[in-house]
Amino acid sequence: MKFVRIALDVPLPILFDYAAPAVHQEDIGRRVLVPFGKKIAVGVIIELAESSSLATERVRQVLTILRDVPALPSDVLSLLKFCSKYYHHPLGEVVLNALPTRLRRRQEIKPVEKKAFRITDAGHATDMSTLPVRAKVKRELLMLLRKADSAVDEAILHSVAPTARSNLKAMLTLGWIEPFARSPILSSVASELSQAEGPVLTAEQNIAIDSVRSRQVGFTPWLLMGVTGSGKTEIYLQLISDVLRRGRQALVLVPEINLTPQLEAVVRARFPSTAVVSLHSGLNESERLRGWLAAQSGIAGIVLGTRLSIFTPLPKLDLIIVDEEHDPSFKQMDGLRYSARDLALVRAKARAIPIILGSATPALETFQNAMTSSYRLLTLTRPVNAMPAEIGYIDTRNLTLIDGMSQDLLKAIEATMQRGEQSLVFINRRGYAPVLMCRSCNWTADCARCSAKLVLHATARRLQCHHCGHQETIPAACPACGNHDLLPLGQGTQRIEEALARTFPAARILRVDRDSTRRKHAWQDMRRQIQAEEVDILIGTQILAKGHDFPQLNLVGIINSDSSLYSTDFRAGERLFARLTQVSGRAGRGATRGRVLIQTEFPQHPLYQALSRHDYPAYAQELLAERKQAGFPPFVHQAVLRAEAPQLAVALGFLERAAGMAGAQNAAVTIYDPVAAGLVRMAGLERAQLTLQAHSRTTLQKFLHSWHAELCALGERKVRWALDVDPLEV
Ligand code: ADP
Ligand code: ZN
Ligand code: ZN
Repeated sequence: MKFVRIALDVPLPILFDYAAPAVHQEDIGRRVLVPFGKKIAVGVIIELAESSSLATERVRQVLTILRDVPALPSDVLSLLKFCSKYYHHPLGEVVLNALPTRLRRRQEIKPVEKKAFRITDAGHATDMSTLPVRAKVKRELLMLLRKADSAVDEAILHSVAPTARSNLKAMLTLGWIEPFARSPILSSVASELSQAEGPVLTAEQNIAIDSVRSRQVGFTPWLLMGVTGSGKTEIYLQLISDVLRRGRQALVLVPEINLTPQLEAVVRARFPSTAVVSLHSGLNESERLRGWLAAQSGIAGIVLGTRLSIFTPLPKLDLIIVDEEHDPSFKQMDGLRYSARDLALVRAKARAIPIILGSATPALETFQNAMTSSYRLLTLTRPVNAMPAEIGYIDTRNLTLIDGMSQDLLKAIEATMQRGEQSLVFINRRGYAPVLMCRSCNWTADCARCSAKLVLHATARRLQCHHCGHQETIPAACPACGNHDLLPLGQGTQRIEEALARTFPAARILRVDRDSTRRKHAWQDMRRQIQAEEVDILIGTQILAKGHDFPQLNLVGIINSDSSLYSTDFRAGERLFARLTQVSGRAGRGATRGRVLIQTEFPQHPLYQALSRHDYPAYAQELLAERKQAGFPPFVHQAVLRAEAPQLAVALGFLERAAGMAGAQNAAVTIYDPVAAGLVRMAGLERAQLTLQAHSRTTLQKFLHSWHAELCALGERKVRWALDVDPLEV
């Protein structure tokens, strides 16, 4: 008897044994249907076995081995196993989560083929004049098929006339035409590799590309640190081009969906005859499946994708690029808390291929690796087409602000408009005001389910919780004292929009935030509007900060950034520098030098000083020195045990027990006291956390392995808990 060990989508750290009489070695990595409890479940074969530790009568049999699509290749299975082990997450969930949704369903995948017809020799030879006069449709179909050099889609033929369908049938019987199955994936692939020419490279670009080319075999991690606009994308394209010329595949990871369409357009334009697959959360199920299959078959030369695409099977993978590698969105913050950037390094190492991590402001972990020569460093110090933006500060300590904006900023916006150029006001907070307060009794509108204030949204006329999504109507009077005078405190994008509209009644103003871009294609339309110069002033959040090219945008005003300067999060400075660099990069991509004005009460702060010198390395060194002193990552490795329960005391109680269990085990791992989370209450649950750290990753992993097993064995039911390895928030 043969057995298989199956990964199933259940939160248990085990594989499940089933009998499978007709299984082969090649079925490892294939999906199966198995009875599970009273249901039928989809699983993936991880191993074959000659025996099972289960009693024979308890072993159930595999119902079907699905051989509709290729099996997960061994390198992807290894990556998934690593991921499960490193992040201490059940392998079954890791494996099933990595599959496109369609492959997680119980149905087989039918090959999606478009039906088409093509003309036969007999059809070519038919003398049309012998056809009866009324055979008009037949004649037309014949003519159309003769003219086409290949098969014609059924849908096109049907559109010729209502009777086309029956005529096609008759022509099939006569042997004039034959059916022709065309796979939509294959039909999109041209046989020859054609590539558009890139620009003449700068000296810095040439050096970077030559360095990578000189060691194109084997695992080499590169940090490409280049200021905004320095042509990192061009370097990616050149290296991808090498890969394609060898008939191999490249994987490009990008942070968020809104970056993809633009990069995708650039990539497609450069490689018009290469199948480019883009994998992100905006796709429907069949689009994702099609992309995945094109990647797995080796047909797709380039896969562009967000976080999850790190698990895509790529048989001819020769290069991985992680663009904006510092972006926190590469780390999943719930469920399986993996870092796609870190897994990309693991994958590149296992496949012995180069990996490029690109950023203007690399994560300190990455930067430190480049400093200690674990990674090779490539630097681009100058923007290609423009001067680096001039960064200035407006000291707001003694100024009266109008809706959060200073006179100087408003004047600069006005002058920019008069020159016919665009301005952007950046504020990283959507809504109208973050607080609604009663003037008479100081009541504030709070979320009932979270320890957070409700944000006032003027356009939707609602109060919204930005943590749990809860919404309610704006009260007409204070619920505590009945006073009608409710005061919105602070600014969000909507309030800035209103203030600017009041100050500049003739200006064309556009607000770009999550609310205004919710509609499908909204952001795309807005980008077109901005590029067509139909906008004078932009107000935007993070969305606007990322890699968009607006040639007329020459002034960027930044407000409210001080709040991150003295945060308790030790990564706040690093994050703020990255964000401000990105936003500043929007200014002055055209002919004139861009200008950035930052409103602050701390113009002398080292972060702002380094920012105006465009000197991230200096600031990063400073932060690293601080981190070393304080014993923070990257000088230590961390994990956080997170717990949530209806009452904080219960969550803390669980963590104390967990800490007790841990304390006895290992002196090389520091275990901190359990504390309440920064945002204690969220969506009705109260949260606490326990931080652990060690100087060596291996020590920490070894410890976590046994500790995690013990925690699982507790069978805790009142507390929801999860382990977060290499957390980005502690
Ligand atoms: P980054 O990704 O480093 O911010 P980009 O790759 O977007 O920078 O490059 C900025 C701009 O410069 C783009 O419009 C790009 O097409 C252009 N560019 C890049 N390299 C060159 C070059 N060698 N010559 C001319 N233009 C270039
Ligand atoms: Zn009141
Ligand atoms: Zn809430």
